[in-house]
Amino acid sequence: MHTWTTGYGIFPGCASEPYDLTPESKKLRRFIIKYFMDNQTGPNIHTIQKELGFDQETLWHSIDQLHIGVQVMVVPGTEISLLKMPPFSYVPTRNEGTLDDGRIFNLGCAGESAAAHKLFPGQELTVRSICPCCWETITTKWKDGELLENDAPDAVIHIGRGPDDWSKNFVYTCENINFFKNLDHVATWEKQFPEKKGATMPIGKVYQWVKPQAEARYWDYDQPPDVVSTKSLVSTSLAGLKKAGFDVSAWE
Ligand SMILES: [Zn+2]
Repeated sequence: MHTWTTGYGIFPGCASEPYDLTPESKKLRRFIIKYFMDNQTGPNIHTIQKELGFDQETLWHSIDQLHIGVQVMVVPGTEISLLKMPPFSYVPTRNEGTLDDGRIFNLGCAGESAAAHKLFPGQELTVRSICPCCWETITTKWKDGELLENDAPDAVIHIGRGPDDWSKNFVYTCENINFFKNLDHVATWEKQFPEKKGATMPIGKVYQWVKPQAEARYWDYDQPPDVVSTKSLVSTSLAGLKKAGFDVSAWE
């Protein structure tokens, strides 16, 4: 019997303490991300079962382990409706990545959009994002840890949800990490949604923030789960975000 089934839309919460992933969880994680890289979308449950042959309990436990460690997301309250595998998304988001060779991916949040290219060494990833405020396009090009081009020079990343709330619903946290055209657009947005008043940082600094995650994901088969606390790989605490270069004054 599954122990974490929640009501529809109710997120079970993320782990705040490190834990050991089972060999099956690591195998599943590698299978899904590689499948995304090769096929531009993730595998469904039939494909996973066919390829990995886990029994029901093992597969469920593996998804659960990855889910609370922010390495797979399911639609909250469903068992196997897979939603995201950072940096990729099964469903459309504000961010779309196109590789040199034509492969196109739905990407997760703005942080993931800056990290995704690291899965494809030597290749340029063009990321088309929309500013939540005006829906104008922000196009960036990334390669080997560098932001090569950016057609919105004053663009910023914005986090519209305080770090203490992140793990309560990581799907909603992702939704609120976005690129904006500039600080004026952030101000207009925050006026409309005062509850989303948050932290900003110039887009040119974003890769440095996500770099530890971008370099470990996929490349380190044994990478531990991501925990959402001061122990996380990418700074998710207020102090950590400040150190990374975010203006966190709205939360202080
Ligand atoms: Zn805008």
